[in-house]
Amino acid sequence: MLEKLEETKQAGMSSLLEINDEDALSQWKVSHIGRSSAIMDVFKNMNEVPKEERGAVGRAANEVKQALEAAFTEKTAALREVALQHSLSEERLDVTLPGRALSRGRLHPVTQTLREIYRVFADMGFQVYRSREVETDEYNFQLLNFPPNHPAREMQDSFYVQTEDERGDNPILLRTHTSPGQIRAMREYSGENPDDPPPVRIILPGMCYRYEQVSARSETQFTQVEGLAVGHKITFSDLKGTLSDFARRMFGQDVRTRFRASHFPFTEPSAEMDVECFLCGGEGCSVCKGTGWLEILGCGMVHPVVLENGGYDPECYTGFAFGMGPERITMLRHRIEDIRYFWANDLRFLEQF
Ligand SMILES: [Zn+2]
Repeated sequence: MLEKLEETKQAGMSSLLEINDEDALSQWKVSHIGRSSAIMDVFKNMNEVPKEERGAVGRAANEVKQALEAAFTEKTAALREVALQHSLSEERLDVTLPGRALSRGRLHPVTQTLREIYRVFADMGFQVYRSREVETDEYNFQLLNFPPNHPAREMQDSFYVQTEDERGDNPILLRTHTSPGQIRAMREYSGENPDDPPPVRIILPGMCYRYEQVSARSETQFTQVEGLAVGHKITFSDLKGTLSDFARRMFGQDVRTRFRASHFPFTEPSAEMDVECFLCGGEGCSVCKGTGWLEILGCGMVHPVVLENGGYDPECYTGFAFGMGPERITMLRHRIEDIRYFWANDLRFLEQF
């Protein structure tokens, strides 16, 4: 019996030596120290052992069982160590390496300028009014005091949506400026209370389209921000004060402005506002072409015909309007030399802002 126990131990030990993976190890556990293993059978059948031998057999069986269990524990630890070494050498995860940076999007440079313009005018009580990009000739020209053969229509060659045959006298086109929104806004406001229309104080941002030769200075699509204030006793001084304040908030507290007479069909009188060159401080540089001044926007008092078309009686109401190009402001600020960069979707350009 004792010999048989020694054989059981040797068989277990030698087969354990050949095991290299955890599956084989758990099978070994079942057949050598499990409930139906040879060593457990010895304990189960102890009553068949002659009484005088039972003590010695029991002790020997216990030793064998403990030896096999100890060997199993040792082998388990050894296999784990091998597996760990393997994964460390093969998988090569170096936790000290820097992580991969997430690529973050950013706002388009023109959007950044637009948001700054919104912020400045919001502080002055102007609301954003969005108007349609597809317009009729009536809103785009006629109601804004452009007569049918006005030369300004030539300057703003338009993208017509309809064919020449379909056009008639009120063709549909892509708006050439944000000004038709002035009429739409005034009509909406005055429609609420035609006898005593409420004051208007809005800015109208958006994309405009002109059928033009594309060059470094002009694109067929561009954004504009229009402004409109209508109310009782609004004067040219209000216009100058508002726009000079805008220039200081936008370009710096010390920046100077000047107004030059100009002409637009929908304002009378009309002016252009220059801002002291914020690149050279007014001393003269290549961007301001040595003049020390930058043209920033066109403006004027709303023409009585336009007020009337918007539902505001020009006898009781006055107003001012202005319009500027966010692309131009962005180009001046960042010394961008070609307007075509803005809508070319070249990441090498866009990622710089
Ligand atoms: Zn300059």
